[in-house]
Amino acid sequence: MIELKKEVIKYAQKLNSTNLSPLRSGNVSVRVIRDNVEGFFLTPSGKRYEDLIPEDIVFLSLKEEYDNLKLFNTSLNPSSEWRFHQDIYRKKIEAKAIVHAHSPHATAVSVHGKSIPAFHYMIALAGGDDIKCAEYATFGTTELSKNILTALEKRKACLMSNHGQVAFGTNLKQAFELAQEVENICHQYIIALKIGEPKILSSTEMNKILDKIKHYKKA
Ligand code: 13P
Ligand code: ZN
Repeated sequence: MIELKKEVIKYAQKLNSTNLSPLRSGNVSVRVIRDNVEGFFLTPSGKRYEDLIPEDIVFLSLKEEYDNLKLFNTSLNPSSEWRFHQDIYRKKIEAKAIVHAHSPHATAVSVHGKSIPAFHYMIALAGGDDIKCAEYATFGTTELSKNILTALEKRKACLMSNHGQVAFGTNLKQAFELAQEVENICHQYIIALKIGEPKILSSTEMNKILDKIKHYKKA
């Protein structure tokens, strides 16, 4: 269990070192069964990632409802975004790890509140022929969690309006790499928009890509 907590810290710190999210923004979790209780390990709220120790990583069960006010008055609170981590694990059995980041280009695109169309075939990595943008809601709310689940329908990643992005995977490495891919795609999209209207790939082509990508190396 401690190894898994260390793994969460490793990827939380990578949010800083790869410039996906500075200081304490974003959050990271991994699905776990502890003492026969299904749940997940999650980064704590508001602590700089470089200062994290395994004891700071919080366990939350998939069933429990938490009282935010109570949580905010204890020293080790789970991330304020525990609701959407919990809801994603509840709704998507394939989600084993989640990375939320305020990565610069994804955040810049998110403030426009629009989906990213298939201007590049790599869009398919997120699971479909676009990357959706969840409607804006205040951070840490049930409403934000609902909006994210809508944007994640048949997808493994989405933007969050005026906020950032979220990605999940079958392990921490995969979730983190998808968040990096989304950031890169957003960077390319911004550059493409500067020189005009990008040409969008047809849904026939994207269906081909989506099929091909199933066999794409995942190591
Ligand atoms: P936490 O420190 O509570 O995880 O908040 C960071 C964040 O990105 C909120 O959306
Ligand atoms: Zn955030």
